[in-house]
Amino acid sequence: LEEMQEENEEDLEERAPIVTIMGHVDHGKTSLLDYIRNANVTAGEAGGITQHIGAYKVKTESGRTVTFLDTPGHEAFTAMRARGAKVTDVVIIVVAADDSVMPQTKEAINHAQAAGSPIIIALNKIDKPGANPDKVREELSQMNILVEEWGGKYQSQEVSAKTGQGIPDLLEKVLLEAELLELKANPNRQAIGTVIEASLDKGRGYVATMLVQTGTLHIGDIVLAGSHYGRVKAMTDHRGRKMKEAGPSTPVQLLGLDGAPQAGDKFLVMESEREAREIASNRSQMQREQSLRTRKHITLDEIGRRLAIGTFKELNVIVKGDVDGSVEALSDSLLKLSTPEVQVSIINKGVGAISESDVLLASASDAIIIGFQVRPSQNARKLAEQEQIDVRLYSIIYDAINEVKDAMEGMLAPTLKEEIVGNAEVRDVFKITKVGTIAGCMVTDGVIQRNAKVRLVRDGIVVMDGEILALKRFKDDVSEVRQGYECGISLKNYNDIQEGDIIEAYTEKEVKRKL
Ligand code: GDP
Repeated sequence: LEEMQEENEEDLEERAPIVTIMGHVDHGKTSLLDYIRNANVTAGEAGGITQHIGAYKVKTESGRTVTFLDTPGHEAFTAMRARGAKVTDVVIIVVAADDSVMPQTKEAINHAQAAGSPIIIALNKIDKPGANPDKVREELSQMNILVEEWGGKYQSQEVSAKTGQGIPDLLEKVLLEAELLELKANPNRQAIGTVIEASLDKGRGYVATMLVQTGTLHIGDIVLAGSHYGRVKAMTDHRGRKMKEAGPSTPVQLLGLDGAPQAGDKFLVMESEREAREIASNRSQMQREQSLRTRKHITLDEIGRRLAIGTFKELNVIVKGDVDGSVEALSDSLLKLSTPEVQVSIINKGVGAISESDVLLASASDAIIIGFQVRPSQNARKLAEQEQIDVRLYSIIYDAINEVKDAMEGMLAPTLKEEIVGNAEVRDVFKITKVGTIAGCMVTDGVIQRNAKVRLVRDGIVVMDGEILALKRFKDDVSEVRQGYECGISLKNYNDIQEGDIIEAYTEKEVKRKL
């Protein structure tokens, strides 16, 4: 928020830190958020009915306040960041002490680091007999997250979201981290902040949860939020209690907007209702026009141009692969491509299909995605198209490295070597003695040709690369089957076909590299 930086130092007052909790599924994010929300109820607050409004603010035992974003999971966090909103001051990474550092733990850490947010580790489920927090600390150290007790820079705290053990200490550690950040805002100005979530409520009209980041929001203020505006009719907190005003780091649920702005949209208070209406309507017009144009994210083809105009310093890459070995080999080789002019950073890597969360991270961090023997999920593919993210799929590590290298030397425009021409979904599998496995398929897009090369993709990972043995419609051999038609496919020297697999047909083309 540029306006924030223009403040005079003497107008600024301390504000509460804003915290997001992230971690692997079932490690206790929701339980921790619930425990903190319910335990830190001060006298007089009791009686209010807890509402999930997307954020809440609590008082700690030491009498200070902390604001939590009540949207666990890094998808929400990164979706906001993709919209340019920087809301979170401190990230708590939850790891169940009776489990291990899991893929989503790593992903959450990468997302927090990509955002430049300080991290505190909560070792949860410490009440469980099988809890072994030192094992988790050890695993974290292997990914360069060394906790303070072991001489590192990361605070960690053993907690139980069930018994509440350690939670007051965790909150104090959040406050300690916040002190280092010197979080300040001017409460005596018109409010500015971010939309956390918004929706249409049948009885009440448009309801938006807003996080005030600087200034104070009052009933009656004229608010401009993204491409919507309105006069604040009513404000409530997460216990449904009416509020007259909301200062910095305070979340409120607000009534009075003429529509639902998007999560991550900025809001601000305006003097004139007419001006707010005009800006809102200009913005919705611009949004309509802009969605027709493309959003410019980095692509391999774009690197040369950016190098030429001297704006290219950093290439962010997300690496996904079929097995750990290939992910590590590819990441290491890509890192080694760094030159004094261009630094290559691997902002996330892992085994498995390319997910929506990978695409969101790429969008928020202006990264390209490199997949080795993996495919994007259907939703990830759609989102990547929408966000114009460069997703490159390879089956030879050397090809991936070479294309990036060439692009970084600014000399060559890489061109795709192969083209996916069709996909068929395996709906049924027949094992026939002496013949082998025949897959009953539906061609879901493009065309499957008898002579095409094919890959078998299972849960987003390429498990086989080869050729078709036979392609049939009913009893007849055919040369091709188009989208919307069923067919029988058997693969050359391969019988382990399973229901739900995708057979992807591709062709290889001559590569013409232009200098
Ligand atoms: P999330 O997926 O990360 O939001 O995890 P949840 O909060 O839903 O927790 C997953 C499961 O672990 C639930 O059954 C919780 O009751 C349980 N759980 C969470 N925290 C603790 C804890 O500290 N101790 C114990 N014993 N169980 C916990």
